[in-house]
Amino acid sequence: MNEDIYSLHLNAGKAIGKDKTCGSKIDYQTELTASEAAERMNSKPNTRNILEAYPCAFCQGWHIGRAMTKEELESYIE
Ligand SMILES: [Zn+2]
Repeated sequence: MNEDIYSLHLNAGKAIGKDKTCGSKIDYQTELTASEAAERMNSKPNTRNILEAYPCAFCQGWHIGRAMTKEELESYIE
């Protein structure tokens, strides 16, 4: 993940709030383990939403959520 997207995730996360971006989500600790878990879920045949790993602004870990475009992330910040 490049630095722009990384900081967008952190800022969008702060704007969205701890409950939704962190809360009771699994802390994968590293980008690698989180993206591996996301890929496993995405490869299931009944996957509806594509998931992706994102860095957490609250616990400094990594979580998995619905994949968002750069524009969508930016829309939370403004
Ligand atoms: Zn978190």
